[in-house]
Amino acid sequence: MATESQDYFRKAARLMDVGERIETLLATPLREVKVQVSIELDSGEIRTFNGYRVQHDNSRGPMKGGLRFHPGVDAQECVELATLMTWKTAVVNLPFGGAKGGVTCDPSKLSARELERITRKYVDQTQDVLGPTRDVPGPDVNTNPQVMAWVMDQYGRYHGHSPAVVTGKPVDLYGSKGRDSATGRGLLLVCREILRDLNRPLKGARIAVQGFGNVGSHAARLLCEEGALLVAVSDVHGGLYNAQGLDLAGLFDHVKRTGSVVGFGGGTSCGNAEVLTSDCDVLIPAALGGSITAELAAEVKAKIILEGANGPIAPAADEILERRGVLVVPDILASAGGVTVSYFEWVQNQQHLAWEEERVLAELERVMKDAYDRVTQIARNRRVTLRTAAYVLAIGRVGKATVLRGI
Ligand code: NAD
Repeated sequence: MATESQDYFRKAARLMDVGERIETLLATPLREVKVQVSIELDSGEIRTFNGYRVQHDNSRGPMKGGLRFHPGVDAQECVELATLMTWKTAVVNLPFGGAKGGVTCDPSKLSARELERITRKYVDQTQDVLGPTRDVPGPDVNTNPQVMAWVMDQYGRYHGHSPAVVTGKPVDLYGSKGRDSATGRGLLLVCREILRDLNRPLKGARIAVQGFGNVGSHAARLLCEEGALLVAVSDVHGGLYNAQGLDLAGLFDHVKRTGSVVGFGGGTSCGNAEVLTSDCDVLIPAALGGSITAELAAEVKAKIILEGANGPIAPAADEILERRGVLVVPDILASAGGVTVSYFEWVQNQQHLAWEEERVLAELERVMKDAYDRVTQIARNRRVTLRTAAYVLAIGRVGKATVLRGI
C-alpha cells in the first residue's frame, strides 16, 4: 500500500524508532468493508454502486471519519483517508480513532431522491459495523447535513433512536451549533497562530483558496472577516483571480445563484493550477487529495500553505516545498476543526443537551491552540517540519494507547 500518509507516517515512525512490528501494526487498518449499493433511479432503471467503510484504528476510542460521494471513491482512497483520521483525531487529542467511507457515484448526475436512496441503502449495508461506540461517520466531499440526517434516521430503524451515530447533522436535528463552519474556523485559528509566530499581520494577508465547498468557503469568509484579502479562488469548474481582492459578498451571492465561482464578474477567469500557483501569502488547498503535484510545487508562490483538504500535497511535492522554504501546516492539524466540533456534537448527543455557540467556539479554540502549540514545540525541539512533528505527536498518543490496552 503506497499511500501518501503512509510515507509521512513511516518517516515519523522511524525518527521515533518505534520498530518495524509496531510500525506495521499501526499502519494496518482493523477492517475494510466493501458493499453493494443498488437502488432504483427515478427513471425506474436499477443502478448498482460500490460502497466502502474502512476502520483503521480504535485504540483511543470509537472510529470517526467522513462519508464521501464521489466518482473517485475506492478502497485505496478510503484506507488512505481512514488512516489519516487516526492521526488527525490523535493530534487534537480527541477520544476517537480513524475511519472513512463513501460511495463511488457522481452526485451531480443524481436527484435528491436518488441520493437519499443511496444513503439509506449504504446504511442498510454497513449499519452492523457503525454505532456511537464503534464508528461514527460525518460529512465529507458532496455530503452535507441532510445526508447525515438520513444516516441517523436509517440507522435508527435498526438500532432505535441513536443521534450519536453520525455527526454533522442539521442543528434542528441533534446537530451542533458551529459544526458547519468548524473546519474553516479551525483553519482561521491556525492561520492566526502561524502569522503571529512569524510576526506577520492577518489584516491584508493575501489568500488563495482551491475548492469553494464547505471547507474553502467558510475559511475564505472567516479569514476575510479578519481583514485578509481573497485574491484567488476555484472550484471544480474553474478559477478566478483579482490581485486587489475579490468582493466576497458578491461572490457568495453569485455561487448561490449559479452553483459555481465561474462567471463571477469581480475577477479574471483562470485555471485551477493558476490558483494554486497564484501570487499570494497563504494558500489553502480545500478540494481533493493530491492537487499539489511536484510540478506545481516548484511554481507555488505562497510562503505558507494550510492544508484544508485531506492529503492535498503529494509526498514528492512536499519535499520540494520544504526545500523551497514554504511552511506547510499539515491536514492532520490544519483541518482538524471539523472533527473537533463533530466530537462536541457526539458529546452533546450522548448527554442529551445542546451547547450554546459561544461554548463550541471557545472549546474549539482551546483544542486547536493546544494542538498547534504541541506540534510547533516538537518541530522546534526535533528540528523537523510541522508535518513530521504532528505525526510524532499522533503516533506517540496512538502507540501509547495501543500498548496500554495490550496487543
Ligand atoms: P465539498 O464537497 O463541500 O466541496 C468541495 C469543493 O471542491 C467544491 O467547491 C468543488 O467544486 C471543489 N473541487 C472539486 N474538485 C476540484 C478540482 N479538481 N479543482 C478545484 N476545486 C475542486 O467538500 P468539503 O467538505 O469542503 O471537503 C473538501 C476537502 O476537505 C476534502 O478533501 C475533505 O476530505 C476535506 N475535509 C472536509 C472536512 C469537513 O468538515 N467537511 C473536514 C476536514 C477535511
